[in-house]
Amino acid sequence: MKNGFTTTILHSDLEAPIEHNSVLKPMHTAVAFGYPDARDLAKVFKGEQPGYAYGRQGNPTTAALESKISKMEDGVATVCFTTGMAAIAGTFVALLRGGDHVVSSSFLFGNTNSLFGTMSQFGCDISYVDATRVENVEKALRPDTKMVFVETIANPRTQVADLARIGELCARRGLIYFVDNTMTSPYLFQPKQVQASLVINSLTKYIGGHGNTLGGAVTDTGLYDWKSYPNIYDNYKNTDPAKWGIVQIRKKGLRDAGATLVAESAHRLAMGAETLALRMDKAAGNALQLARFLAAHPKVTRVYYPGLEDHPQHRLAGELFRNYGALMSIELAEGLDCFDFLNKLKLVISSSHLGDNRTLAIPVAHTIYWEMGPGRRAEMGIADSLIRLSIGIEDTDDLIADFRQALA
Ligand SMILES: *Cc1c(COP(=O)(O)O)cnc(C)c1O
Repeated sequence: MKNGFTTTILHSDLEAPIEHNSVLKPMHTAVAFGYPDARDLAKVFKGEQPGYAYGRQGNPTTAALESKISKMEDGVATVCFTTGMAAIAGTFVALLRGGDHVVSSSFLFGNTNSLFGTMSQFGCDISYVDATRVENVEKALRPDTKMVFVETIANPRTQVADLARIGELCARRGLIYFVDNTMTSPYLFQPKQVQASLVINSLTKYIGGHGNTLGGAVTDTGLYDWKSYPNIYDNYKNTDPAKWGIVQIRKKGLRDAGATLVAESAHRLAMGAETLALRMDKAAGNALQLARFLAAHPKVTRVYYPGLEDHPQHRLAGELFRNYGALMSIELAEGLDCFDFLNKLKLVISSSHLGDNRTLAIPVAHTIYWEMGPGRRAEMGIADSLIRLSIGIEDTDDLIADFRQALA
């Protein structure tokens, strides 16, 4: 990326000619693509010529978004899916086989945790470790380990994985390093800089930003040597080895499972991406001021936010990320009911979802982390009273005033 982050996104579509001199990629809703010379159709199917075959495998509008995400992540190729979960599930299904072993951070998005449980029913063995220390990851490795999975800043307690040292470990051992960059977004952090092989982003969150479309993406950073990966099917080995992984993800993960991002969603997400940097700077600025306000408030006992000096990975987060993000969790003083508190907030909305323009709050143990049960919650450090806050782009004073009145 030669230009800055936002300039690059704004001008990405114009790198190729667009119909009618349009300045952004329009919505191409066609499912079928016709070829005057039927031989070209055959070449597209064989991967010998670029082009579109059938809408389930991609369309020009989604391709324009994929190209933008590749630039944001400094990657070589991206495949979009209809949700972030579809991107994670599609990548797992495409690259893993029964009997493979995966080491995962134990601090996980709830549905990722649930998906990994399902994967283990299909014979993938998944070990969970405290990924804030590379030593724990290294101890869990086995001869059949294929992949290490971590989130940058974990949901909801904001633990920051030992990202760079895990990257070195994976590179040394030839393992796929799969990083969920949703919480940081490529504006705050490019996992490629810590040697990630694959990066997943839930586009639903910060990249879309407006809470009006679901989407997900997997980006190949180009750092992993797919020639050494045993699970590539022979019929995908007829292309450049650099593409083996992403081709297999598109064919096995997207085409076969069918969780395709439609053009309308891709268009909205691309509009969101244009203002990602502006929104994240504002939301992170709000989050830091609010975290300081809440940390000093007598009715709040804990504030988990990487931007506060007492956060265990405060220094690491400062070294790795452009800013500290916009997600935090809090615990109220003994005797205060988290539901009563949430009901007193006037601007802040009690809702799941994160990375929205609006500030959202949720009592996680009773909602998104309820299904996993108390044992797994304890491992993840989730108290019954924990409230997760996803800070939006409201005017800072309004936001702080809302918390002040609700705590009064
Ligand atoms: C939301 C989220 C996902 C899943 O994304 P969806 O688009 O909701 O499917 C995955 N990982 C993290 C960290 C998330 O916050």
